[in-house]
Amino acid sequence: MKTLFQKIADREIPVKFVFEDELCFAIEDINPQAPVHVLVIPKRVVARLGVAEESDAALLGHLLVVAGKIARERGIDATGFRTVVNSGRDAGETVPHLHVHLLGGRALGWPPG
Ligand code: 5GP
Repeated sequence: MKTLFQKIADREIPVKFVFEDELCFAIEDINPQAPVHVLVIPKRVVARLGVAEESDAALLGHLLVVAGKIARERGIDATGFRTVVNSGRDAGETVPHLHVHLLGGRALGWPPG
């Protein structure tokens, strides 16, 4: 069974990519929580941080570097932004295919709910 994000990666569900390279892609979140809300998603599935291994380290680091690049492109690097990886039920994970939320364009509350 493919995850929702695998289906999007394989173009089975048409979604505009705002970034793509050999390791990952990025899309606008369908239910944005901030003026900028982009999901950076690895093409290889890691379900969540709770099952990530040392062999996933380079891939996970790459997702953060890409998130930073998109933040610069969107002009929110100076004002600030947040990256979030929800892992598991209590964090509100809804898609079991790890992804980095890039949120910005407004002041973000802390602590998160
Ligand atoms: P999670 O809750 O797992 O951390 O994040 C999943 C995110 O995927 C949510 O913010 C949700 O709005 C987004 N999402 C769910 N389905 C779709 C979809 O079909 N297209 C897009 N672009 N985003 C989606």
